[in-house]
Amino acid sequence: MEERWKTGEGETQSGRRGEPDSTERQSTLSCIDCGVVNCRKGDRTYPDFCLTTGLEEDLLAEALAEYEKPDVNRIAVVAAEVEADYYCKLTRVEETMEFARGIGAKKLGIATCVGLMQEARTAAKIFRKNGFEVYGVACKCGAVRKTDIGIPARCEKVGPHMCSPILQAKLLNREKTELNVLIGLCVGHDSLFYKYSDAPVTTLVAKDRVLAHNPVGALYQADKYYRRLTE
Ligand code: SF4
Repeated sequence: MEERWKTGEGETQSGRRGEPDSTERQSTLSCIDCGVVNCRKGDRTYPDFCLTTGLEEDLLAEALAEYEKPDVNRIAVVAAEVEADYYCKLTRVEETMEFARGIGAKKLGIATCVGLMQEARTAAKIFRKNGFEVYGVACKCGAVRKTDIGIPARCEKVGPHMCSPILQAKLLNREKTELNVLIGLCVGHDSLFYKYSDAPVTTLVAKDRVLAHNPVGALYQADKYYRRLTE
């Protein structure tokens, strides 16, 4: 097990040298435990537990077969083109529009949190100015009481009405939007929206009420101000 844990450079991705802690020993090692990430270029050593070198041929073939589907292939190719052609040049707002153009999406759906209506309106203004048709649905649409679907009454302290990502998706599906842009849906509400949306979804804003919608901030500071997350 110890040998399997060792990466090509003898350290985990987090940079800690030495032995894995008991949690790491017990868990199944995967890319998240890799300290080399040489699948990026494939020109160096791989760890013993590498998911590339240990990959089953049929699983790889199964995944690659999906990319042969025309609609899937278009998304995969355009996403790679946007990444390569605008690398460190465009903001995510601009990349979203380039991606939409690339896949031929003219009608954009916006699924927004009511707490980010101003930002959603700004996004819509930018999209429209750039030639897109926009249709947006707010999370509280339907104005259904939370308790009506079994959400505990205590949850109404932050508002009586439920977020309804399924209704948001269904309204955008009805409008036949061609790409849906998610703006600040709550953790879990976003999961349901992804599940019910007919059109492909891209996330423009990931909600974090504490970090001004910059959730990676907690990761940047996980060994300092947010040490409680790892202790
Ligand atoms: S595929 Fe292999 S080299 Fe790439 S991150 Fe995973 S374990 Fe590391």
